[in-house]
Amino acid sequence: MPVSDRTAKRSTEVSARLFAEAAAVIPGGVNSPVRAFNSVGGTPRFITSAKGYRLTDADGNEYVDLVNSWGPALLGHAHPEVVEAVRRVAVDGLSFGAPTPAETALATEIIERVAPVERIRLVNSGTEATMSAIRLARGFTGRPKIVKFSGCYHGHSDALLADAGSGVATLGLPSSPGVTGAATVDTIVLPYNDVAAVEAAFAEFGDQIACVISEAAAGNMGTVAPLPGYNAELRRITDAHGALLILDEVMTGFRVSRAGWFGIDGVAADLLTFGKVMSGGLPAAAFGGRADVMERLAPIGPVYQAGTLSGNPVAMAAGLATLRAADDAVYARVDANADRLSGMVSDALTEASVAHRISRAANMFSVFFSDAPVTDFASAKATDTWRFPAFFHALLDAGVYPPCSAFETWFCSAALDDEAFERIGAALPAAARAAAEAEQPA
Ligand SMILES: *Cc1c(COP(=O)(O)O)cnc(C)c1O
Repeated sequence: MPVSDRTAKRSTEVSARLFAEAAAVIPGGVNSPVRAFNSVGGTPRFITSAKGYRLTDADGNEYVDLVNSWGPALLGHAHPEVVEAVRRVAVDGLSFGAPTPAETALATEIIERVAPVERIRLVNSGTEATMSAIRLARGFTGRPKIVKFSGCYHGHSDALLADAGSGVATLGLPSSPGVTGAATVDTIVLPYNDVAAVEAAFAEFGDQIACVISEAAAGNMGTVAPLPGYNAELRRITDAHGALLILDEVMTGFRVSRAGWFGIDGVAADLLTFGKVMSGGLPAAAFGGRADVMERLAPIGPVYQAGTLSGNPVAMAAGLATLRAADDAVYARVDANADRLSGMVSDALTEASVAHRISRAANMFSVFFSDAPVTDFASAKATDTWRFPAFFHALLDAGVYPPCSAFETWFCSAALDDEAFERIGAALPAAARAAAEAEQPA
């Protein structure tokens, strides 16, 4: 198909019908809210298959995937070695509720990659990993309070949904109905990248704070990298007050380098959390860190944590095959693809005279429509996010599938090749013009 035909607007009839059918039985038609396209409008595409960088929807449209399941598909979709590993173990049984050697193999692979991780526990989702790490930090220190940062997402457990927005040492308020004040009263929400705010919170509550939890590099308010030295300051302050540092690497882990964000800034947290890439697209996640802290977990310690499907053998096989295939060449390719993609996006927006910033954290990035630097959630929200829906839909109509919100990260896979970039290059000029022509809602 010539490139010009690929940029023709696509039919979404079948997706629209499937969405209506889904909405009759599933709230909003989706099992995770962002998939509903609420912030960009339009019909969410129902995906029927994916291979490499290609995503195919129920209408038969093909897209260059720049979301990659929100991160997990580092190698591209349906990587042959991963699929074969899953096939091989699935025929031997799907779950036993008893230990398997594959769990030790995946735990060992993670420990070998990420130096601060001495022990690891496998769970089923990033939400579970961070929730359990928080419980462990509280159990280990005997302290109630936790510090999290506005705009950082750590899954949807009650205590971590608190996000009081900006302000120094704000005591968290429930940000979702159903989360009680009691669940968040010990959650202190601070602005990201603001060391003085952390110092102030510790000056007031230092002996009550069990831990600070931060995304190792923020990717859930759009991509917002820690300022130089910021994570090291979190390390210094928590050490000074006997609190633990939890770096959430669910997004960055095994994506931005072999050793995740730790491989980039070398700040050793007490506990780290993993998900997304580590299970290669099947549901598995993990938390790990210092042996003396981790060994407070049941059954050898008093802090309870469990899971019927934890360490599931099929998920272990997918994770292990993914990590074993993710060698230095893969990371070099993903990095180069992120450079090339973000450069092309920026050039197209510049050509269309759209003020923008490519906000990078290693091979993760997002596009903010603003001249001003974005360093925290407040500055991310102050950008011209109203330009994003037009930009997004122009790309989607032309066969390129970017994240469906200005506050999400763009994920490259190693599978992007020259042909993929040719398609992206063909789609970008019209998308940049659409962003330029977008009108600010009254
Ligand atoms: C995705 C994500 C989570 C939540 O993981 P789930 O598997 O969706 O529960 C937690 N923390 C970060 C940084 C994430 O990006």
